[in-house]
Amino acid sequence: MPLSFSKTHMRMNRLSWDDHNMLLALVTSQRSPDPSTQVGAYICDTMNRNLSTGYNSVPRGIDPESISWERQAEDEFDTKYPFIVHAERNAVLNAYGSVHGAKLYVTIRPCHDCAKTIIQAGISEVIWLGDPKLDVWSRSVEEGDKLLRVAGVKVRRHEWEKPRMIECLEFLTQHPTLREQ
Ligand SMILES: [Zn+2]
Repeated sequence: MPLSFSKTHMRMNRLSWDDHNMLLALVTSQRSPDPSTQVGAYICDTMNRNLSTGYNSVPRGIDPESISWERQAEDEFDTKYPFIVHAERNAVLNAYGSVHGAKLYVTIRPCHDCAKTIIQAGISEVIWLGDPKLDVWSRSVEEGDKLLRVAGVKVRRHEWEKPRMIECLEFLTQHPTLREQ
């Protein structure tokens, strides 16, 4: 039973919560100083109220320009890897309160190390968008997936509602304020 009668109906083609939440993770990834891989994560509760965001970067207080962004070197500490906090862990650590029972959206499938953080934080569902570009991560991601599932965390791959999402991206890129000189 409608609450009132009107000739104008609500907009039916608005973004789904899933697309909205993954889009926020993608936008957040663009804060990453990493020249090769930008990952974003977004945490919300089961009512889709936002709890936290995170992206891959160096710890707070460390100048991102002070580390080497190399991926390979004789000494591991001449690469970026020992200094980077992954997006998922940052999102968990950036939350003001508990993320117990929450959903985590992430633009790249979590590695095994982040899987442990996700489990320990009590996250109940992980929604990921794509696989890592580099094969060196495949094993870690596979093991991470296994850990999450064994620990009872729901895991699924995100699928865009395509025509609607493309429309949304066009709305963003063609926004008049972006075209102002
Ligand atoms: Zn990770």
